Amino acid sequence: MESGYLVAWRSGLLEKRIRQSEKLLADCSLCPRKCGVNRLANEKGMCRTGLLAEVASYCPHFGEESVLVGEQGSGTIFFCGCNLLCVFCQNYDISHPEHNSCDVLSDEQLGSMMVGLQQQGCHNINFVTPSHVVPQILSALPHAIEKGLTVPLVFNSSGYDEVETLTLLEGIVDIYMPDFKFWNSETARRYARAGNYPEKARAALLEMQRQVGDLQVNSKGRAERGMLVRHLLMPGLMEETVEVLKFIAYSISTNCYVNIMDQYRPEGMAGNFPELNATIDTQEYKKAKKIAREVGLLRLEEKELSVLVKRLFKG
Ligand code: SF4
Repeated sequence: MESGYLVAWRSGLLEKRIRQSEKLLADCSLCPRKCGVNRLANEKGMCRTGLLAEVASYCPHFGEESVLVGEQGSGTIFFCGCNLLCVFCQNYDISHPEHNSCDVLSDEQLGSMMVGLQQQGCHNINFVTPSHVVPQILSALPHAIEKGLTVPLVFNSSGYDEVETLTLLEGIVDIYMPDFKFWNSETARRYARAGNYPEKARAALLEMQRQVGDLQVNSKGRAERGMLVRHLLMPGLMEETVEVLKFIAYSISTNCYVNIMDQYRPEGMAGNFPELNATIDTQEYKKAKKIAREVGLLRLEEKELSVLVKRLFKG
């Protein structure tokens, strides 16, 4: 299957989207924070990213979902800064920019990075935390395409995305991989200062599904197009998990590929929240998987021991 951005490049659609997205930077409304800063003048809002994208690291990654990893890994590019800023973030040092050391990249450098990952054999380019750098990603694509980029693009976001921005990615992003973290506004406000996260995430997932549909996997078991949703189990929030899973099953699709994740551990500023000072035990994980099946979800990421061992030794 040909990646969507190649078609968009040939038709002139990509160029049009680059121009449209740049306009959003002048009075930044890229994401639901709507900071209104002029990022074209390098002003910075909550994501602490100005005109150019900043990258913490990039590599073939073997810890992602099996349908992305394949044999050669997923080509992850970890952007610095974040528009959600969860207090328990496992990548706190790179998402909260006051702590980071990041490389500021031109569009051409970002494009070359994508091609470099493809040359290492990666099956896709996996943009981690991309919501605040959509224009920069779009502007980098022509450079990457001219150097031979062909693999699918993965938009790996927190789910805190603005629908208007997502529409600029229609026909360009091949695979959406949003989180759906919190169901209740109060929870989102407490842990991310984002009371509107639940409504924005619901709208974002619906838009992503409208664009790309259920995840399509080729004969080699690799994702080519579609949506994959992640849900991180959190201490004491099983009731919210139930609502998230029901939403996916009833409003998105029972055929939606879902990864229920049990790797929560207190990181970042979680120590300031006593209720977050815990981990998820096997029983809670099993319960969540059981609920997912009960609400009708048919495609759950499985943690196969052999796959985990293989990934451990590769990455
Ligand atoms: S992308 Fe950054 S500056 Fe723009 S609205 Fe979101 S948090 Fe604010």
